[in-house]
Amino acid sequence: MKKIIIAIDGPAAAGKSTTAKLTAEKLNYLHVDTGAMYRALTLKVIEEQIDPEKEELVCSVIKDCKIKLEKTDFGNQVFLDGRNITETIRSREVTRNVSAISSYASVRKLMVEEQRKLCKQGGVVLEGRDIGTVVVPKAELKIFMVASIEERVRRRQKELADKGTNIDYEKLVNEIIERDAKDSKRTESPLRKAEDAIILDTSNLTINQQVEFIVAKASEIIDHK
Ligand code: C5P
Repeated sequence: MKKIIIAIDGPAAAGKSTTAKLTAEKLNYLHVDTGAMYRALTLKVIEEQIDPEKEELVCSVIKDCKIKLEKTDFGNQVFLDGRNITETIRSREVTRNVSAISSYASVRKLMVEEQRKLCKQGGVVLEGRDIGTVVVPKAELKIFMVASIEERVRRRQKELADKGTNIDYEKLVNEIIERDAKDSKRTESPLRKAEDAIILDTSNLTINQQVEFIVAKASEIIDHK
């Protein structure tokens, strides 16, 4: 059966990660969380105590980093130079700094090359901000996931609470709005809906409904190939 590329983009906390992961599982496709890649680089910059505002320094530190996304019995795991950093990259410090690091053209060039290599065989679900517009503009299926700010904050608050961190609602609203603004306003590959992307508003949908929607669209495309 023909294997397609599915591009899922959208703002922070719109539900991309879980939906992309489950969609990939259903179709037996590879799941590529490109946000995790930018987060991994950001962690490296923080650990090396580099000023995130200094592009040249940032690039010199990250250019030889080895990022690996691996599917294991314990879910998808992220490795940086052989070290498991799956949990660490979700820290608030990484989240606060990731938009600055990912705004650099030199950084994006390295990441996009890696992401395209993973697409060579088809059968991939990629999620991020620029997948449908820059990484794989020829993806057969493009989804742009959105949700109300209230719902996105509620989801992020629950995710953090499950890990034992309680963050004030208003503070999270501001953090998410600020990150979306930085991601949308940058010059390099800003967060933007591809013209041919289908908008999926997940505000009132369960995860299963989101996955079913994407799998149904994918099946239509695969059947017509
Ligand atoms: O998806 P996630 O929220 O983990 O992404 C973290 C950050 O990585 C985003 O806020 C954005 O700054 C950056 N990113 C990006 N391009 C992508 C994926 C993520 O710039 N394709």
